[in-house]
Amino acid sequence: QSKALVGQDKIRTVCTYCGVGCNLEVSVKNDTILSIQAPWDAEVNKGHTCLKGRYAFSFYNHPERLQYPMIRRNGHLERVSWNEVYDFIAAKLSTIRTEYGPNAIAGISSSRCTNEENYLMQKFIRAVIGTNNIDGCARVCHSPTAIGMQRAFGTGAATNSIEDIKFTDCIMVIGANPTEGHPVTGAKLKQFAMKGKTTIVIDPRRTELAKYATHHLQLRPGTNIAVLDMMLYYIIKEGLTNKDFIEARTEGFAAFKDSILNINLDQLEGVSGVPREQVRAAAIAYASANSAMSFHGLGVTEHYQGTFTVMQIANLAMITGNVGRRGCGVNPLRGQNNVQGMADMGVQPYQGAGYFDVTNPDYNRMYEEFYGVNIPIEIGLTIPQMYNAALDGKLKALWIMGEDLVQSDPNTTKVIKALESLDLLVVQEIFMTETARYADVILPAASFLEKEGTFTNGERRIQRVNKVVEPLGETKADGQIMVEMMNRMGYDQAPYTAKGVLEEIARIVPFFAGVKWDELGKQGKQWPVAPDGTDTKILHTDTFKRGKGQFFFREYIESPEIESFQQDYPYILTTNRVLEHYNAGTMTRRTPNVNIVDEDLLLIHPEDAGRHNIAEADWVCIESARGKVDIRAHLSDEVKPGVLSTTFHFPELMVNLVTSDVHDSEAKCPEFKVVAVRIRKARRV
Ligand code: SF4
Repeated sequence: QSKALVGQDKIRTVCTYCGVGCNLEVSVKNDTILSIQAPWDAEVNKGHTCLKGRYAFSFYNHPERLQYPMIRRNGHLERVSWNEVYDFIAAKLSTIRTEYGPNAIAGISSSRCTNEENYLMQKFIRAVIGTNNIDGCARVCHSPTAIGMQRAFGTGAATNSIEDIKFTDCIMVIGANPTEGHPVTGAKLKQFAMKGKTTIVIDPRRTELAKYATHHLQLRPGTNIAVLDMMLYYIIKEGLTNKDFIEARTEGFAAFKDSILNINLDQLEGVSGVPREQVRAAAIAYASANSAMSFHGLGVTEHYQGTFTVMQIANLAMITGNVGRRGCGVNPLRGQNNVQGMADMGVQPYQGAGYFDVTNPDYNRMYEEFYGVNIPIEIGLTIPQMYNAALDGKLKALWIMGEDLVQSDPNTTKVIKALESLDLLVVQEIFMTETARYADVILPAASFLEKEGTFTNGERRIQRVNKVVEPLGETKADGQIMVEMMNRMGYDQAPYTAKGVLEEIARIVPFFAGVKWDELGKQGKQWPVAPDGTDTKILHTDTFKRGKGQFFFREYIESPEIESFQQDYPYILTTNRVLEHYNAGTMTRRTPNVNIVDEDLLLIHPEDAGRHNIAEADWVCIESARGKVDIRAHLSDEVKPGVLSTTFHFPELMVNLVTSDVHDSEAKCPEFKVVAVRIRKARRV
């Protein structure tokens, strides 16, 4: 902190929006935020931010903030004290646990929260409630990345650092729109492409980056594997594999090669809609580069074959020796600010803090000794399984920390029915979200500007979040709420400080071993951090985390959504984000960004619009097998005929009323990106 002007403090913290993790310098006077600047000495963003990080902060003292705890009585939410709400929750949870067992209770944590808070949430569910029913919002975004990269490399984290863009010869961006979703990294990628350097974009939309790319493979949504299979085929056929790397560092290549050489090019070209010569040119460009970096986003993961697509991206890197060096690797673009940290902290039903398998008796014993209580050894429920369990009457209580399931998860009608089936729904939030409207108990949480902790960005960089203003009203940091609740339910957890919890994390998570609150400084540290404090910019330099890199082959399979419904619903709807807003828009809709973009729009190709007599700004009814919504049209050739695209930032639209129940076969991530729909001009004006 520095005193720049009389009475004005400048406090350094980290942006809450996306996984780039930009440093912010917040000017504050009399507990009021005046402005946000981008510090020049921040390694991550070097004087840059996007308009979310710099301008979208006024939600912190918005009049609609939740400011005191509430309990629903006779259908109405009534203001109560913290003491009363803790007693109420403790009594209800204890009764449910006694009557139905601990597996009738579940928790959903949030990548909007700090590492310390995520760690405490999973500890509360495991050590205090006694179940592994803990999951987080990564389930609906990057869970396939975690599983796919763990299978191939042994760990699900980005292999390299963003600064490696300076050292690479080729960039491949697949299923991501970084100039809107990850703007500061997106600007670096765009500068790279504008110099005419080899840039491959694989995306159904002609994104801003695609306009400057040397290769744009504009595939039909849902066919990433088809295109990657073809790329791998041409790399092998053209003799562009890195034999030394494959021999020394990998296993499973012979069988993989046989499978790839037997793919049906005619079929894959047909389903993807990308001419084989375009794919061949991109494959040769990627494999011929001295170093090639790949970046992928939710356009890879939110698919029926999301995990297998991540594994194909890993195959592409291994077959060309693009792992373990500067300027290469596989680099997931994390949607939310702390997706990486949430997974690291054990917010998964099958892995605890530090990614240890909860069903392994040795690791179970380790957790039991560390937490000092019995820890369940059975795998817990993922979020989609929680909905089913609630509808079946097996799940009775759900605690949601900072997640708007009703607006952000697919098949809204089913989500609402599941929430209504519960005996107890606790929602810990900063605003009355669409999900909070169904809560039996509301716990008002502090925003990132009102608390301390750490976030881990998409390049594994653990950075300090510092308190800028005091918590509004009676709000409390999520971590403090969790600790107070743990103690209320009889577990002896030390009084909450971010520093204290980080020390506890460093004792159980091996790659946090050398992380110390006072040594994180302004730049943070990239994990793994050795006990002597040395951090790591590039993973898998000499050996993969799992020993040898593993090749896997999976053939392309059409999404069940298309198989089942395309005949009656001939268009494919895909979802995306815009620069000005963040996911469900809970925060950005309450800032001046709403003056720039104030509604969700449907991107529709002019040919399709003409066929349905739809003009710019007309209302269009989109209908799927689940439901229908009206939305205004924006005619654009960014999408191909037959493909539609929209955002989900505004609750007025609720596009997830139409999205599907199909999930990634491995990670259970919903397939937001392929929805079979039909359209017609709506009567609304
Ligand atoms: Fe925040 Fe991401 Fe924008 Fe940086 S790029 S300011 S982290 S939203």
